[in-house]
Amino acid sequence: MEDGKPVWAPHPTDGFQLGMIVDIGADALTIEPLNQRGKTFLAPMNQVYPAEDDVNKHVDDNCCLMYLNEATLLNNVRVRYNKDYIYTYVANILIAVNPYYDIPKLYGPEAIKSYQGKSLGTLPPHVYAIADKAYRDMKVLKMSQSIIVSGESGAGKTENTKFVLRYLTTTYGSGQDIDERIVEANPLLEAFGNAKTVRNNNSSRFGKFVEIHFNDKNAVVGGFVSHYLLEKSRICMQSNDERNYHIFYRLCAGASEDLKKKLHLDSPDSFRYLNRGCTRYFASKDADKQIMQNRKSPEDNKHVKMGALKDPLLDDQGDFNRMCVAMKKIGLNDTEKLDLFRVVAGVLHLGNIDFEETGSSSGGCVLKNQSNQTLECCADLLGLDQDDLRVSLTTRVMLTTAGGAKGTVIKVPLKVEQANNARDALAKAVYSRLFDHVVKRVNQCFPFETSSNFIGVLDIAGFEYFEHNSFEQFCINYCNEKLQQFFNERILKEEQELYQREGLGVNEVHYVDNQDCIDLVEAKLVGILDILDEENRLPQPSDQHLTLAVHNKHKDHFRLTVPRKSKLAIHRNLRDDEGFMIRHFAGAVCYETTRFVEKNNDALHMSLESLVCESKDKFVRELFENSNTTKDSKQKAGKLGFISVGNKFKTQLNLLLEKLRSTGSSFIRCVKPNLKMVSHQFEGALILSQLQCSGMVSVLDLMQGGFPSRAPFHELYNMYKQYMPAKLTRLNPRLFCKALFKALGLNDHDFKFGLTRVFFRPGKFAEFDQIMKSD
Ligand code: ATP
Ligand code: MG
Repeated sequence: MEDGKPVWAPHPTDGFQLGMIVDIGADALTIEPLNQRGKTFLAPMNQVYPAEDDVNKHVDDNCCLMYLNEATLLNNVRVRYNKDYIYTYVANILIAVNPYYDIPKLYGPEAIKSYQGKSLGTLPPHVYAIADKAYRDMKVLKMSQSIIVSGESGAGKTENTKFVLRYLTTTYGSGQDIDERIVEANPLLEAFGNAKTVRNNNSSRFGKFVEIHFNDKNAVVGGFVSHYLLEKSRICMQSNDERNYHIFYRLCAGASEDLKKKLHLDSPDSFRYLNRGCTRYFASKDADKQIMQNRKSPEDNKHVKMGALKDPLLDDQGDFNRMCVAMKKIGLNDTEKLDLFRVVAGVLHLGNIDFEETGSSSGGCVLKNQSNQTLECCADLLGLDQDDLRVSLTTRVMLTTAGGAKGTVIKVPLKVEQANNARDALAKAVYSRLFDHVVKRVNQCFPFETSSNFIGVLDIAGFEYFEHNSFEQFCINYCNEKLQQFFNERILKEEQELYQREGLGVNEVHYVDNQDCIDLVEAKLVGILDILDEENRLPQPSDQHLTLAVHNKHKDHFRLTVPRKSKLAIHRNLRDDEGFMIRHFAGAVCYETTRFVEKNNDALHMSLESLVCESKDKFVRELFENSNTTKDSKQKAGKLGFISVGNKFKTQLNLLLEKLRSTGSSFIRCVKPNLKMVSHQFEGALILSQLQCSGMVSVLDLMQGGFPSRAPFHELYNMYKQYMPAKLTRLNPRLFCKALFKALGLNDHDFKFGLTRVFFRPGKFAEFDQIMKSD
């Protein structure tokens, strides 16, 4: 930092503010803000950064700036956002800020056309440019490509993913149905897998990797979607102001009178699984009573009942019609459509079944009187035998070894709470199998026989850190550790390898490897996932016992500690046996282990499993037959009552990473500009933390110490030969560049000659280009 020049110093809401250094202490600087002369504040030395001379200037590629640090990146992104330039490069990585409104012409047919075949950087940064680069790389290198889209909820991952798919199918499609189907599959997937949350009105509650496959002539031949971890808890319960999956409300709002009658549908308010978005969900009768007592007037009643159902921002009926059009376009016939709707309705009715204590000495429960009709309705829709369903919900079959009589089957009556759990477990199993089916069906609509290469787009939730973090956050953050490692490998390691290959003699690039954190989660036997599975296999597993086992196994692990170390946990008095804290690459997160054991188990108890497997409804039967679990493993799971969710995700994730490693890759980092979900509001501090979490800041460190701009000799030759005397242009490109640089008297520190290209220090290529063009 030079004397008398402004610097960026931390600001609580803007991220950074401009100021002057007025005093230098041992490890803090005294700063005078430029817009508040006379006032000063202290800032830690390592959080103050040099500013560019002109802070109102912005550049397409952040690497063209003189100073590469988090403050200049944030400022560049801010200046651009204010001009509606939502995309910015950091070398080949694309940053995309969600504008929260439709920027005119940004994605139209003209834009699509203009990016076709253009090298990255020749046109303004755009998601289309990344899509086209992936396509050109696939074609030239004859290698599959992947585009990894990340960011927090509401940052724009799914929208950008859709733009990539639309770009590729429009530009490089075969002109047949397939192109349209790849795009139209989305409304269906979103109907079943997206929901309104407090962070996003159309939040994807599952991860997906969409592959577009190309033939040897590089035209689209088909597609394939893999999906990860549908959020199952949402099916039975939603947080305040959140909703269940869109399909439930859309079906209630959009079904014809005839269909409504057939499916016994009513307003969403009449279904337990839909009307609790504004209330807490309680499993016990007492708690239900409590809710009723708390309502003081009919108005209150209405409020509780309406919940978050009437959302002025969502048009359930219109969305239903649009979804039906999409279903038709991808080739679903009326029978298939009805199959889907029937099961959705079945799940809704299932949720309305209520239980009460029998009052007998056996301590079991029975269906409440008014639930008998609901039971009939549900059994009818799902093709189940009414009595079998009743028995399966209120009792549990167990194999006993008591008294030496091995394998005797006994029926244990369930308590009200247990019956509620059984009902919810069944609903979750049916709906998640239905979602699996939807994805499978979508895949059937763009089949391909042979493919030469694919371009895959990964749309999966970014690092999550909420007030309460549960098993879902644990899984998604584990996934993000793996993706961060891949990002490091690709960006940082490759940068280093390039310097070596080109003989630059640059010092080694350092970055923090997160393998230890990944091991903590996934290592065989000692990793948290295996400790969790071990707990699930115990006769009486408990979340507390699991938590203690995790702490015991990893007493001295740098990445793991007790909740006591987290401020939030202290605030809530979280005990050490109620959670653990992991130091992730993006920050420490305290996980509460309540329900970890339950959430890690995909198995239905035996009688429910056989109930649905023997459904009279062929479609329902197939939902359960067609799962990946083999008969053998099912039987085993039935006996143990356990199918591991965590380890299934681990296997899926490792397959995904194997795939990603075998492809060329591009990264899109999506950024959410504000929490209000409105346009033209840039909350600096919020954005800064997203840039830090996404690993962008470590990329900048790497670039600042290295040579972020580079140009092959022949490109420079072609670009500048017109400005040079004919004598020089007869030289080969490498010599031409040497002569050119010498003639311009460039400073030796600002660039280096590699074997095939020139490397520039930050900001120096832009300077050089300016000199050339102004002379
Ligand atoms: P989640 O993790 O919750 O699924 P997400 O990152 O997928 O979130 P999106 O659903 O893609 O977020 O975006 C949220 C909303 O922001 C969209 O519904 C849309 O209204 C708006 N949005 C996102 N990107 C754009 C864009 N490029 N132009 C206009 N609006 C956008
Ligand atoms: Mg999404």
